[in-house]
Amino acid sequence: MHVLQNPVPSSSTPVIFFSRGFAFQKESCRLKMPLLSSLRAAPSLLCLDQGVPLLDLQRLKDSLQLHTAFEYGVLGGERVKTREAKAALEDWSLSKNLGADTCVIGVGGGATLDLVAFFAATYARGLPLVLVPSTLLAMADASFGGKCGVNVQGIKNMVGTIYHPQEIIINVDLLHTLSSQQMASGMTEIAKHALLDSHQFVEQLFSSWDACLHHDSSCLEQVIAQSLAVKARLCAHSKDTRHFLNAGHTVAHALEALEGPRLPHGIAVAVGLYVEAMVGMRREVVAKDVVDAARDIFLRVVPDHPLSGGWDLGDWKQILAHDKKNVGGRPSVAWIQTIGKPYILNGQSTVPLEWVEVEHAYDLLRSL
Ligand SMILES: [Zn+2]
Repeated sequence: MHVLQNPVPSSSTPVIFFSRGFAFQKESCRLKMPLLSSLRAAPSLLCLDQGVPLLDLQRLKDSLQLHTAFEYGVLGGERVKTREAKAALEDWSLSKNLGADTCVIGVGGGATLDLVAFFAATYARGLPLVLVPSTLLAMADASFGGKCGVNVQGIKNMVGTIYHPQEIIINVDLLHTLSSQQMASGMTEIAKHALLDSHQFVEQLFSSWDACLHHDSSCLEQVIAQSLAVKARLCAHSKDTRHFLNAGHTVAHALEALEGPRLPHGIAVAVGLYVEAMVGMRREVVAKDVVDAARDIFLRVVPDHPLSGGWDLGDWKQILAHDKKNVGGRPSVAWIQTIGKPYILNGQSTVPLEWVEVEHAYDLLRSL
């Protein structure tokens, strides 16, 4: 077992790294996971993403040594983020007489954790929550920061809240069955955090990119910890700095709506970072270093996972007209001015686009 000490120092949510096998030894668990240890006597609700291999789940369950554990299978993927799925989990929990003393342990990818955390936030007015992310994207981004919710009428994360887990457990060995597409998807969110942080992080990430894709545990732990530290810093500062994390996501969410569930979130973000940076460069608010780095990220990720592209400008504008980040009815973006420095206009980090810029973004997309 290997534990990184205090990898995210500015965070109030302990993030615990375990790797080199599933040797969650008893003493270490007690020391490193106080919540889980104290709750072992209480009933636990294990919400398990069905996309995680059974053998990994079994090893994980054995290592957690839970006293009374109820298990609930979650389908996984974006399709699970519905009000109906949350209601089904609530009804099932009621049928098992689960009350306010239940500890919820969510194991899975980002969508599963979004659903499970939203359930934990509201059931019996809030249950203690532990997250065990199983994808790179969830480890480096989605499990941290407290955002949770479901999609409504095709609008991503339309209904939800902020609810922080008490503990996050990261074991990079869970990544061993991930596809290259899923690994690339996670690397993109890490890259977004690097762009928001520093040239040093960007360069380090690019130099360890291939090792991470080939599941090098040390490299993965290093970049995940750095990624979480950036996110922790931005989330802790203010609601406005949290919005910096939306970089690339206006275009990414619209693209996901157009392409459907076959397009992984991180691949959409790779496109979004590049397209938004180029639109920003045209307005002369985004510097060349950001555009070049975003292009580098794009080229590392998208050519191997191309877009289908069967959509038109009308669809594009209609989807963007309903984005929940809209300001005054106009689609808005969070730009990165230069690496390490988000763009702020009149004290705001979310900047409305002109409709002509929305059309320009579409032209750029078609030309990729
Ligand atoms: Zn994202």
